[in-house]
Amino acid sequence: MKITDTIYQVDDVFGGTFVLVGEQYLSLVDTGVPGSEGKVFALIESLGRKPGDLKHILLTHSDGDHIGCLPALVEATGAAVYAQRDEAEVIAGTRQSRGGSFVQKPVKVSRVVAEGDVLALHGGIQVIESFGHTVGHVCYYLLSEKALIVGDCLVNLEGLSGSIPKYTYNAEQAVATVKKLAALGPDSPCFGHGPANVGGAAAALALLRDRVSA
Ligand SMILES: [Zn+2]
Repeated sequence: MKITDTIYQVDDVFGGTFVLVGEQYLSLVDTGVPGSEGKVFALIESLGRKPGDLKHILLTHSDGDHIGCLPALVEATGAAVYAQRDEAEVIAGTRQSRGGSFVQKPVKVSRVVAEGDVLALHGGIQVIESFGHTVGHVCYYLLSEKALIVGDCLVNLEGLSGSIPKYTYNAEQAVATVKKLAALGPDSPCFGHGPANVGGAAAALALLRDRVSA
């Protein structure tokens, strides 16, 4: 499903998976649950492109519904993998997940990202630390379209909310993240769970900020 000129969401993948379309290459943000790679490749082919065009895989965090088919995607495409330092350790199998387990198929992260980095992809993607849901959760902000791929630090299931409490690593940080993202004021948040808002989302985020601050 097309979200913006650059962003397409892979339909029916739990965890929210987004293909970013560039003239020379494609990128992916988050991979969905294990076994989603066929749906990712079907979307890529529906755009008239090849799986081998996928050069970059950006990860918001290391939960299984976000990195589930990372090993299969990397094996098939050789794409470079981007993640925040703590999340990268979980993905590489050197650190336990917050659930206390190690990933079954470790993947080496090619580039560790941090707050303020602007990746030279798709006209500039700003990395925004948005801790709380997990220890090192980040969002990716597509500057040209003011579209923010939020992972799970915002959720749009029964209306807009912050990280779901029972899946939240640090509640205080999660509230601070809502305030930070409201201040950023993206037009189009794209969620790991729930439909993307396209355009004019800043007001809804401001309302959420007021709610969590009260
Ligand atoms: Zn998730």
